[in-house]
Amino acid sequence: SQSSPADDGPQGALAADPPLKPDEDFLAELAQQSEKLETATPQEILRWAVDRYGDKFSMATAFGPEGMTIIHMLSEIAPQTPIFNLDTGYQFQETLDLRERIIDRYGITVEFKQPELTVEQYEAAHGGPVYKTNPNQCCFDRKLKVLHQAAKGLHAWASAIRRDQSPDRAKAPIVGWDRKFQLVKVSPLANWTKKDVWSMITKNDIPYNELHDKGYPSVGCQPCTRSVLLGEDERAGRWSGFQKTECGLHD
Ligand code: SF4
Repeated sequence: SQSSPADDGPQGALAADPPLKPDEDFLAELAQQSEKLETATPQEILRWAVDRYGDKFSMATAFGPEGMTIIHMLSEIAPQTPIFNLDTGYQFQETLDLRERIIDRYGITVEFKQPELTVEQYEAAHGGPVYKTNPNQCCFDRKLKVLHQAAKGLHAWASAIRRDQSPDRAKAPIVGWDRKFQLVKVSPLANWTKKDVWSMITKNDIPYNELHDKGYPSVGCQPCTRSVLLGEDERAGRWSGFQKTECGLHD
């Protein structure tokens, strides 16, 4: 019978090739590592990930404030780390501009990963904008599929989530197993607050999306994001009017 890395079973969290189907020992090792990093700074966590996974460590970013902070840190720790953005074709110009601003500031080129079909082809194939009728399908086609493709060949990636963002995220480990994408997920900002993020941005003059100054605390695709009112939840402007709060990227 043919053997694949998946059949061989996990070789432990620190093996060069993370298993595709982690067993309990592997998960326990990850949990142990996560515990060890619990009091580490985000920079130390990133340093660990870069040392551990080398060029198999990457980051997907939507250019949010948290992502921008991580890019800033990576520019000092490991500027060669591959970073990419899911370019759905529906992003705001202000968001797309950040790619150029990051090149100017750090000399780092964030790669745009795009779906197979252009927006025009996609809408023509579906008789109109899918985000209007079925945003889950649209997010699946234009984000998740692309992300799954991008995850191939990687061993670990950085996530910009913070534990205080939502009850779902409250228990996120620093290092954990991303079941959805079959990768080690490293969350250097898990213990940070929004204030920590913004104070780092201000102190270091880190570029950030101009829309944050125009009433958009959380920026997604242009058709699915509206500005929020004072006192509204930060993410209230995402998929407003739909029973949808996440694009399905996080567990
Ligand atoms: Fe489509 Fe909206 Fe999802 Fe963007 S956020 S992929 S436009 S449904």
